[in-house]
Amino acid sequence: MTDCRRALFLDRDGVINVDHGYVCSPERTDFIDGIFDIVRLARERAYRVIIVTNQAGIARGYYTERQFMDYMDWMQREFEQRGADFDAVYYCPHHPTQGRGEYRKTCPCRKPAPGMILRARQDHDLDLSRSILVGDKISDIEAGRAAGIGSCIRIKPLPATGSSPGLQIDVSDRERIISCMSDQGGAADSDCA
Ligand SMILES: [Mg+2]
Ligand SMILES: [Zn+2]
Repeated sequence: MTDCRRALFLDRDGVINVDHGYVCSPERTDFIDGIFDIVRLARERAYRVIIVTNQAGIARGYYTERQFMDYMDWMQREFEQRGADFDAVYYCPHHPTQGRGEYRKTCPCRKPAPGMILRARQDHDLDLSRSILVGDKISDIEAGRAAGIGSCIRIKPLPATGSSPGLQIDVSDRERIISCMSDQGGAADSDCA
């Protein structure tokens, strides 16, 4: 059933958690309301759920790869507790000009380049034309299009710094995401599991 291999790709900062800038600790994490529902629905409809995130904070030396991975483990547990597990995380720790040492490079994984998505396609045997990407920046959408993802949805940016918990994905954005999942077969594809 390789035909069933579709994914919901999620940018992280600004989609899953409020983008306070280089977030890498539970204390600075405000989850965006609505994201868990979307992930649960995606799982019900047999989408792999994959996070693709630029992490220049590593390149800049704000936190290490180890700290980032520990933080994502914590995030996975938070998702699991809400019945919304994700399947994989791909990150680019590089930056073309601000990176320290080996982290300074023009990387084919850093969005808007499609490297992370293409690697996920290979690792998970995905059909990108039937997959969906949700991001808050044009670079997310450019990466998705360059990789050949069928539906790339840019959600309206949420207020960044100083914002309080309780921010939620705009209702019309949420409906677009859900309708994409329906249009692409969704529950009708009962062979997919
Ligand atoms: Mg973002
Ligand atoms: Zn990279």
